[in-house]
Amino acid sequence: MIETPKNLTRNILLGMFLGFVVGSLLYYLSFFSDTFIDFTRAYVFNLGSAIFINLLKLLIVPLVFFSLVSGISSLTSMQSLGNITLKTIVLYLSTTAIAVSLSLFIGSIFKPGAGYSSDIAPPEQLPQGQGIYETILDIFPSNIIEAMAQNQMLAVVFFSILFGLALNKTNHLTNNFSQSFEKLNTVFMQLVIMVISFAPIGVFCLIGKFVITDGLDIFQEAFKYVLLLIIALLIHVVFTYSLILKLFTNLSLLTFYRKMKDVAIFAFSTSSSAATIPVTLKTVQDDLGVNKNVSSFVIPVGATINMDGTAIMQGMATVFIAQMSGIDLTIFQYIQVVILAVVTSIGTAAVPSAGTITLVIILQQFGLPLEAIGIILAVDRILDMLRTSVNVTGDAAVACIVAESEGLIDKDLFNK
Ligand code: ASP
Repeated sequence: MIETPKNLTRNILLGMFLGFVVGSLLYYLSFFSDTFIDFTRAYVFNLGSAIFINLLKLLIVPLVFFSLVSGISSLTSMQSLGNITLKTIVLYLSTTAIAVSLSLFIGSIFKPGAGYSSDIAPPEQLPQGQGIYETILDIFPSNIIEAMAQNQMLAVVFFSILFGLALNKTNHLTNNFSQSFEKLNTVFMQLVIMVISFAPIGVFCLIGKFVITDGLDIFQEAFKYVLLLIIALLIHVVFTYSLILKLFTNLSLLTFYRKMKDVAIFAFSTSSSAATIPVTLKTVQDDLGVNKNVSSFVIPVGATINMDGTAIMQGMATVFIAQMSGIDLTIFQYIQVVILAVVTSIGTAAVPSAGTITLVIILQQFGLPLEAIGIILAVDRILDMLRTSVNVTGDAAVACIVAESEGLIDKDLFNK
């Protein structure tokens, strides 16, 4: 197995801490000249972050393609593929429904929007979300090169499955061509390690960029909304995932959370489930022992459609804005929010702040004031980081459950 660099987590945490300290010093101390601050922001933090994110994104398409093709082409029973797909989709939809219900419940009891008044200006231009129609159509690419170039994960997954199936059926004619894909997959896993070794520097730049741009005052705005949202995210990670893992597997929860640490930190720093795919895949396969046949399908699909953290934000934001505007949502409307949030979180792109874009769809549905998005956006930066960590943890939990139910998890590796 390919080795991960030593002390990676410690170094990433160190990078995070230093980014935080250096970013704050530059933001708060008047000692530095503007030219120096602008230069550091542009050429250290922004450039460093952009290079690191580009390197991660660079790997996504080939990694997903090779691992899925090599997994599918070695399947001996197609029945298993059908089972994996069905279980994955059902688990993704139900965990997201639980997530949004939880946030609606907390929001309606503790009322983040009651008595809140804000003078935040509405955004100049309202973001437009993607509807369910486009999301479904996006699964079926008309041009695979274009889909790959645009990192359209569902299209890439769909094409990889087709390609893997064809490879599987023609192996006897092609002198076991599928083995070449196995080898390419190994090479790409090594590439992931090479990029991950730069994570401490990448994370330093990402966190520094965040602090030097926004400072640390963000929490003052809409404090109750931020606090309740964080609580809901925590409850979902600690209770919901533990519950389903306990219910459907006999894996150690402590080991699961311990091994997910790096993935969560990556998601936190990048605010993008998509950019985190290489790290999630590697951890789920090499540390949690999930068989490649499961992980190579469940993880990229999850990064694209499974967004529990995002659904939690959308539920809480809807309640918050409704309360702020003095609108009482009926129980029927709450149910509608659950359904809508599940659907829109599927349609949310796995990139920073995408959840606030699809939130517009929900607000519009209930005639809630779209200007209020301004308040949500003002505090969204840190919340986006947190909910992305929840999103990827959900993907990994579902991968473990599906793998265990198919007998495709290596327990020794998991417990190691
Ligand atoms: N940043 C989130 C993700 O990539 C999406 C969102 O909620 O904005 O998972």
